[in-house]
Amino acid sequence: MTTGRGVTTGRGVPTGRGVPTDPAAIAPAAGTWEDLATAVRGCVACPELVISRTTVVVGHRPWDQSHADVMLIGEAPGAQEDLAGEPFVGRSGQLLDSLLAEAGLDRSLVAVANVLKCRPPANRKPRRAEVGRCRPWLARQIELADPRVLVALGGTAAEWFFGPGARIASLREETRDHEGRPLVVTYHPSAAIRFGPNGAPLAALRVDLAAVARLVGG
Ligand code: URA
Repeated sequence: MTTGRGVTTGRGVPTGRGVPTDPAAIAPAAGTWEDLATAVRGCVACPELVISRTTVVVGHRPWDQSHADVMLIGEAPGAQEDLAGEPFVGRSGQLLDSLLAEAGLDRSLVAVANVLKCRPPANRKPRRAEVGRCRPWLARQIELADPRVLVALGGTAAEWFFGPGARIASLREETRDHEGRPLVVTYHPSAAIRFGPNGAPLAALRVDLAAVARLVGG
């Protein structure tokens, strides 16, 4: 995908004739996480999201490591992430942090990224076409973060790995595989918040993150 004429999009992202804008063309060529992050921040593949976003939430990985112990995959930035430019800084992120600590997982060795890098308007579900356009970014992030264990948080992340209709309840029963890496599928922390402290998603998250810690330790 290239833009036909030099334009500046709603949030001042410059595009121009002949400038490649297709993540599928750019992402595989990114040699480092930093190169990839720069490219993701300039992404204009989804016009509606380019207009509605405040920041592009690239995600992060442990800076002093050649590979992450764990890579968490969420759905998309929410309002607070969109403002901060960082994933999981809102309520879901706070719960996630405490669950990681409870499981004995060192947050500084954890990489985090979302299926979508831009907040959908009013936190609507990511559209299938958006997920498809954004897919090469996350695929390359996984390669560059090189995690020992992948964790899909929630239905959108589960579908990213397993396709439409992927069901967390059955997928979480055992450790899966993604291109040779162990993949644990579990609930999104927002489900744990929604169902409350006695709900099944919170209990499942505890069990599943303990399993992740065992995989990392083993
Ligand atoms: N929910 C997500 O899936 N990702 C975030 O970064 C924040 C909330």
